[in-house]
Amino acid sequence: MNAKTFCIIPWSHACINPDGGLVPCSRISTDFPTKNIDTVEDFSKDWWNNESMQQLRNDQAQGIKTKYCDLCWKDEAAGKPSLRQEYNKRLAKHTNLRMITKSSTYIADDLPIALDLNLSNICNYKCLMCGPMFSSEVQTERNQNQVKFKSLDFLLPPVNYNSNWPNEEKFQSFFYTVMPTLRKLELKGGEPLLIKNVLNTIESIQDKKNCILSITTNGSVELDDDFVEQLEQFERIWMFVSVDGVGEHGEYVRYGSSWPTVDKTISRLSKLKNCNFSLATVLQFYSSLTFPSVVDYAIEHNLDIQIQNCTRPNFLNINSMLPTNFAIFSDYINQKTQQHPEAQYLKVVQGFLKSYVFEPELHEQCRQFTSVMDDIRHNRLDAVQELFHNA
Ligand code: SF4
Repeated sequence: MNAKTFCIIPWSHACINPDGGLVPCSRISTDFPTKNIDTVEDFSKDWWNNESMQQLRNDQAQGIKTKYCDLCWKDEAAGKPSLRQEYNKRLAKHTNLRMITKSSTYIADDLPIALDLNLSNICNYKCLMCGPMFSSEVQTERNQNQVKFKSLDFLLPPVNYNSNWPNEEKFQSFFYTVMPTLRKLELKGGEPLLIKNVLNTIESIQDKKNCILSITTNGSVELDDDFVEQLEQFERIWMFVSVDGVGEHGEYVRYGSSWPTVDKTISRLSKLKNCNFSLATVLQFYSSLTFPSVVDYAIEHNLDIQIQNCTRPNFLNINSMLPTNFAIFSDYINQKTQQHPEAQYLKVVQGFLKSYVFEPELHEQCRQFTSVMDDIRHNRLDAVQELFHNA
């Protein structure tokens, strides 16, 4: 087994996307063959141990850096612990590693002990870097402005899928089968706290004392006392609040948000018992404007930041920043890293910035996209416009 490429995830973890598509994890490439949960008769045969999953396990054990796991290889190259590295540590004690290392067939006898559930795309925000798959509001906006979006032919096509799969028998029976041995449940969305049956899902976990619950929220939903009581029964809670700017910057990028509400949610959730709390921030085109205030906020409130490097949509990644803006941003990050050597997230950003190469075509797509969005939303910020002018 090659430790540099081995990943425990295809042996112990499943992710279900908002459309019901089954994949090993949220970092796997979108080309990886998927299967919809509502078409699965026999979980083990139809998906968990199908040819693609066996091949993935095989490649990773043999030291092959499969193209499907490119995001993990890139995170590792930037010095950010990848999902692979995190889960190899975290799930090892719950997984039969002896059986895995001896396996010559790459068939997993045990069912997943960790689940990443995106129960629907229902969301009340329209974040600029989000798409219809993960936000019902983005989907509606695209449907209502089809003529304006026609000029942006580089956007992914709209989605159309059955969003009722979490209530259907196939998912329910799968969930109740894996639930007793579940050691980690991750809830994302959409906005998971807006989903009606999310409390039932959490309540139904029987062995909460041996299960870690992770929730990524946009900070718009106030948790009631019943919900908090459920959370406190878990071995540990990992709570992430997505923040991509403070004040008007945050409200611009995460459109539909209200900064005072997000600030209040952060204040409450970061004090929960049993909780590893962190802000979650996407490193992207707008970051040269919006990230410094997030850093100041994190330092002031003594909070960690989990950095996700934007890979989709492509035109919002850091390579669309103009070189002059990039240079200013990079100097800022280097300076802050020297001032705050304890802030690991600054080193992670530094690592990602090393791969920067200006791509004029992406910049142009980003400019067109921003202009259409500002027009539709009547939401123009002069400071954002500056990002399209060479300083
Ligand atoms: S290496 Fe990364 S992308 Fe591949 S299965 Fe593991 S966690 Fe997922």
